[in-house]
Amino acid sequence: MSRRRPPGGGGGAHRDASVEVHSPLDGAVLGTVPLRGPDEVSAAVRRARAAQPAWACMTPRERSRILRRWAAIMVDRQDQIAGLIRGETGKPEGEALTELVVSVDLIHFYANEARRHLRPRRVGTGWLLWKRAWVERVPVGVVGAITPWNYPLIIVVDAVAASVAAGNAVVLKPSEFTPLTALLLRDVMVEAGFPEDLVAVVTGDGQAGEALVGGGVDHVLFTGSTATGRKVLQTAVSSLTPVTLELGGKDVAMVLADADLERSARGVVFGAMFNAGQTCLSVERALVERSVFDGFVERVVELTSGLSVGTGPNSDVGPMVTGQQVYKVEEQIEDAVRRGAKVRCGGTRHPDNARIFLPTVVVDVNAGMTVVSEETFGPVLAILPVDDEDHAVRVANELGYGLFASVWTGDRARGLDVGRRLEVGGFSVNDVLSHYAVPGLPVGGVKMSGFGRRRGTYSLDQLTHPRTVLVDRIGLRSEPWWFPYSAGGTRLFRALLHWRGYRGMRGLFRAARSFLGGQAHRR
Ligand code: NDP
Repeated sequence: MSRRRPPGGGGGAHRDASVEVHSPLDGAVLGTVPLRGPDEVSAAVRRARAAQPAWACMTPRERSRILRRWAAIMVDRQDQIAGLIRGETGKPEGEALTELVVSVDLIHFYANEARRHLRPRRVGTGWLLWKRAWVERVPVGVVGAITPWNYPLIIVVDAVAASVAAGNAVVLKPSEFTPLTALLLRDVMVEAGFPEDLVAVVTGDGQAGEALVGGGVDHVLFTGSTATGRKVLQTAVSSLTPVTLELGGKDVAMVLADADLERSARGVVFGAMFNAGQTCLSVERALVERSVFDGFVERVVELTSGLSVGTGPNSDVGPMVTGQQVYKVEEQIEDAVRRGAKVRCGGTRHPDNARIFLPTVVVDVNAGMTVVSEETFGPVLAILPVDDEDHAVRVANELGYGLFASVWTGDRARGLDVGRRLEVGGFSVNDVLSHYAVPGLPVGGVKMSGFGRRRGTYSLDQLTHPRTVLVDRIGLRSEPWWFPYSAGGTRLFRALLHWRGYRGMRGLFRAARSFLGGQAHRR
């Protein structure tokens, strides 16, 4: 098989059923991985299925111990892992290390939380006093995880840690642009004591992803674009495979007139430019109250122009992961300028490095421009004036996306009120992106940003089935409602109905009256 990307695009080039992984830092070939086909994907799912029952039978405590060892080895091998993340994505060293910090926190969270959260839970049996019932959480089996290239470690760990902590096996299809971090992660997991076939990495492109969705897995965790998410859902429909879709966003930052402008400007610039804007939760639109608009724009332009740009380990903004993504950003800016937008800084590629798009601020924009209406996924911030908070809420909710938002205000209660009016999966007040470092908080969106949640106990719930168990404790010869039916049994049911419907002494009185022959029920 031989396929190629458009000229200048991509982090690698296809050759004979394999793909070269190129570094956005200097174009160096970091490795070559196979493009797995449907048969190989199915074989990985079969092997994972065979490995899963033994893993699920281990006690949660034993599983937790292995998870913790996994986190410790990641810390010990931080230079190798962070170096590879940086090599595959081009991100600055601090951002690569951020992926590690968040990942080991996530692993520890699941090591602790799975034991607690997946414990069987007693459920009261109501009037069935002689029964005992509880709910057990049963692993779904094999989870198919499909991940994008922007965070090659965090998003993979997110899916894998929750899956294995819940007792599942995982077959992972990482992005073809960043498969090496995923392969290294799997090696680390085997070293930590995970069974060899429990976590498989099938490298390849969209075809491998499609084969995984249709390959008999029990749940698909997909993180990627809305367009691909739609295809995943279509493939999953035929086998009724449950899916969690974490898709794109076009997050707003609402800057209200009473906000601390310095903090807001710094926060918004960080939220827009972190990871060169290649974050689903990036701030892509700032909606600023008119009275503070000019001052805010000036400060944001100043801060953005001051960012250091380059391939050095301590640059603020590095190259973009894929060449196609640079084209996309460029097209959006060209479209905006054609339609009258003003570029206040950036707006082009770096003169000496075509993989770097300069941090950009655009104003005089409107909803007819793709930079305002579509996900950019690059270091670009569009700033729009709004009359007041009602106007800001209207503009924010107009778009189909609904991932996350931030509200900047001097009045926290007002920030909460405004945030609650937004159609999003979550919001922060006077902060940006920090929630992503809290493993217990769910991540996910509404509308075109997908459905289902990852992180926290929400992942554990999605990756296990609740199994209902009821046990009879006294062993009567027969229950009063079993065959044969009788007038006495019917009377008992009428009495029960009164008791359950009215409760308390009143219910008991009505039940007794009904049973003893009265007509407590009205016809
Ligand atoms: P894509 O949707 O292009 O790809 C995501 C993954 O899906 C990749 O592994 C890709 O493989 C695979 N894939 C491609 N086609 C198919 C298919 N038909 N069936 C199954 N899998 C397929 O996203 P990107 O990698 O470009 O990532 C960027 C997007 O991810 C942005 O829209 C961003 O907002 C979103 N994202 C969302 C997050 C969230 O939590 N909501 C978090 C991070 C990113 P390959 O790359 O090899 O083609």
